[in-house]
Amino acid sequence: MSRGLGNRPVFQPQLVHAGETIAGLNAQFRQDVEDFRLEFTCRDCVYFWPAKTSCTLGWTVETLCAEPIEILDAKAEPAFCKAFEPTGS
Ligand code: SF4
Repeated sequence: MSRGLGNRPVFQPQLVHAGETIAGLNAQFRQDVEDFRLEFTCRDCVYFWPAKTSCTLGWTVETLCAEPIEILDAKAEPAFCKAFEPTGS
C-alpha cells in the first residue's frame, strides 16, 4: 500500500497540524456540534437498527453512539463513520 507522511496512508491526510492537539480539536468539535446542532452519530443515521448492536450495514454501533463525542481517536484518526446517511428528520 502506498503511504504518505509517517505511517499514515495517502488517502488519510494529516488531521492534526502544528499548534493543534487531539484534545483541542475534539473540544472544538464538541462546541461545533452544540452550536450548529450537527447530527452524525448512529442514532441519526438511516442505517441505525436500534434492536441490534450492529447497523443494517453490519458496522458495530456502540462506539459511534458513545459519549463523549470525538472527531479524532487517540491515534488522530477519524472517529466517525464515513457511511453515515442522515435520516433528514
Ligand atoms: S452506517 Fe455508520 S453511522 Fe450509520 S448506523 Fe451504521 S455505523 Fe452508524
